[in-house]
Parts: sequence; structure tokens; C-alpha cells
Amino acid sequence: MDKAHCHYHPAQPATWHCASCPRDYGDCCLPLNADDQDAVAVCPLCRSELSFLGAANSAQPFWLRIPKFFLYAFQVGPLAFAALLALASLFMPSSKILWLILLSVATKYLHSVIEASSQAQQEAPSLQSAFVGEGFALFFRQLAVFIIAAAVLWLAADFDSEALYWAVNLLIMLVLPASIIRLALEKELAAALSPELVGQVIKAMGWRYLILWAFLFILWQSPSYVTYMLSSGLPRVVLMPIAAALFAYFAVVMCAMMGYVVFQYQGALGYVIADETQQNHFPVAEYQRRKALAEAEIRLKEGQSAQALEILTQALERSPDDLKLNERFHQLLYGLHDRERCLRHLDHYLPLVARLNPALAVTTLLNARQLQGDFLPADALLCEQLAGALLARHKHREGLSLLRNLHRRFPDYPHIPRAYLLAARGFAEGLGQLEPAQQLLGFIRARYPASPLLAEVSQLEALIAKLGQVKPA
Ligand SMILES: [Zn+2]
Ligand SMILES: [Zn+2]
Repeated sequence: MDKAHCHYHPAQPATWHCASCPRDYGDCCLPLNADDQDAVAVCPLCRSELSFLGAANSAQPFWLRIPKFFLYAFQVGPLAFAALLALASLFMPSSKILWLILLSVATKYLHSVIEASSQAQQEAPSLQSAFVGEGFALFFRQLAVFIIAAAVLWLAADFDSEALYWAVNLLIMLVLPASIIRLALEKELAAALSPELVGQVIKAMGWRYLILWAFLFILWQSPSYVTYMLSSGLPRVVLMPIAAALFAYFAVVMCAMMGYVVFQYQGALGYVIADETQQNHFPVAEYQRRKALAEAEIRLKEGQSAQALEILTQALERSPDDLKLNERFHQLLYGLHDRERCLRHLDHYLPLVARLNPALAVTTLLNARQLQGDFLPADALLCEQLAGALLARHKHREGLSLLRNLHRRFPDYPHIPRAYLLAARGFAEGLGQLEPAQQLLGFIRARYPASPLLAEVSQLEALIAKLGQVKPA
């Protein structure tokens, strides 16, 4: 079965489907509101209700989770189950009734492991849960499946053909895991024996069913193999409980794997199961923000830039100082060559981005210059901040242009010496123009004789003098 992916993000698994658009969406496009879990998810385009695809497309393949199945069986529930079987093998009297009860409990427990694992529950069921409630009859249904399989095999043996016998044997072994999975899910003997329903499990998985089967086969052999290896040195009284516990452990590993397979192939099996982790739920403010960003992106990719702008405008009314929302809004306006609106938005955006992300501020200023060649922010501190960011990124001319005539444009700005020292550095170190650098330093000395920056001015003057000596040679 091919996995479906988000229509707008081909690397993201699809988790929602809109039948009327029709579109698949991933979690990327549909953040959910953690404070309103019951809200129906609607299509970002047409607002009709979406159908949930569960984790069918996002589940990790079972063959990448093998170590997790082994760890799964080390939880309290499965260990108690192993201990129960070990103790029973030692101390339980050889009463048929007692053994029937024990096997019934064991079957019920293992089936509950399959069921829990098919819901992607990380926690194994407790052993107590196997002693209460319904489901004791499962053992007899499972037993019936085994008896029927044995009967078929017995019939095949009657034909006096070795090839036929082995073919039937292999076929039974092949379909048995699928039948057990069906029984665990439907709890009906008819389902476990139905070629259609059992075949559906195999069909859903395709050739990967063989991977599962191979793993199960190895696991099935493991306890008897280990027991055989130990058998030479150990007395029966020690060996029996070890064998019983090993059997319990590996049975739980097998059931966890079979259950997870249902989770992974839920789509093809006709189930919808959500991942428990709820990673895609956010507190309301974060939810609204992510929703606006996702929906604006979808609208843009659909070529509906007006709607994208509208969505971002509304989101910015709610949280005007959100950097990401402002960034998207700026990029959108700039991309659309909406000169007027883009420049107007810069009044708000540029101080914000200069404070929070200087690298992004540099790009933004260069964008602004594309729209208006002589663009200058109307704030002295902002000019200085941006100039610093530009000079640090070797955009010397753009940086210096922001500081030109700063003392005339902003006569009340208290940090003129600092800004001009920065400019002098830009001229001397960035452009190698010593003269304007000297002029700026001279200006600071003359106008601000009490500035605490004079020591740095002297240092830079000394450096310039040295550079001046080197230069003519
Ligand atoms: Zn739709
Ligand atoms: Zn997406």
C-alpha cells in the first residue's frame, strides 16, 4: 500500500482528507487546538469537515521497531505474566481444570497485548486485567483455530503425498499469524477462519507480511532453542520455570509485534487509530498562530495571495509582535510587489526584526532598498542597529548609507559618537577609505570632547595612521 502525503508538503505523511476538494493534509497543515479537543477539523480551503486518516501514513514501520518490542515485554505486566507461568510450571497440581483456566488467562492476556499494541499504547496491559472482565472464551476460539489447523494437516497427511503435506503445512503456518491478529481484533471465531478477513490482513501488508512472518518464526523458535542450550547442565526443576518464563516473554514480544502491525496498516485494514502522543495539539494562542501560518501558505500555493494576506492580517491583529507572522507578511507583500503596503508594514516590522533577528533584518532592509532606493528608517537607533548588522555582514555601503548625516537627521540622538565611531570603522576597515574615517573621528573629538568613547577614537586613529603609512608603499 502506498502512503499518502500532504498535498502541500510531499515529505509529510497525510493525516486528514477532504473529500470535496479533494486533498490530503498532513499535521503540518492542520495544527489542532489543545484547549478544544472536541472541535471538528475543517478543510483549510473549503471549510467542510475533514475525515481523519489516523496514523496510517505516519506510523513507523514495524521492522524499525524490533528493539522496542523486546523492551515492551520487560514491563511489569509481561514480567508478572512470565512469573505466573514459571510458578505454575513448578507448583501447579496436574489438574486439567486448573491448566485450562491458566491457558485461558494466558490467551486472554496475550490477546489483550495485541489489542493494546494495535492502539499504539506504549504501556503493556497489567496481568490483573487478564483475570477480570470478558474474553475467557477467547482461549477456546483460539484452541478451535489450532484444532482445525491440525485437522486439516492430518487430512493432508492422509493423501500419501509428501509434497502436498508440506505445502499444506507451510500454508497453515503462513496464514496463522494473520488469523491470530483477526481473532484478537474481532474476537469472533468466524473472523479468524474467514479467508476473506484473514486474507485482508495479508493483502494489506503485501510482501512485508513475509518479514513479519520471518520475525515471528524466529521468535517462536527462540524459547525452545534457549531451553535446549541450557538443558544439558540444569536440573528439571530449574529448567521448567525458565522455559515457561521464556515462552511467556517471547509470546508477549510476538503479540506486541502483531498488534503494532495492525496500527501500521490500519488504513488498509479499515481502522482509524490516532497516535496517542497528540504532538499536533497546541495551546490556543500557539494554535491560532500556527493555523494562520499554515493556511496562508496553503492559500499562497493555491495562487490565492489576497486570501493569504487577509489571513495574516487577521493573525497580526491578534499578535502584532509575532516575528514569524510579520516575516511571512513582509515576504508576501514583497513577493507581490505591493510597494505601498510593504513599506508601510516596515515601520512596524523593521524595529521588531532588528531587535530579534539581525540577520533577517539585513535581508529585510535590502528588500526595502529594492522597493525604494533611498529607503531610510525614521529612527536613529534603528539606523544604528541596522548599520551594525549590515557592516558585520560586509554590506559596507548599505550600512554606511544608514549613518550618513545622522547628526543632522536626528540632532537629538544621544548616541551620535557611538554611531560615527561605527561608521569610521566601516570606512577604514571595510572600505579602506581612511579620509572619511578620519573626518568622522575628528568630528567626534570636536563636537563631543567629553565622550567616554574618546579612548576608542584614539585607538582607531592610531590604527588609521599605521594603515596610512603602509598604504603609499
Ligand atoms: Zn476541502
Ligand atoms: Zn502540509
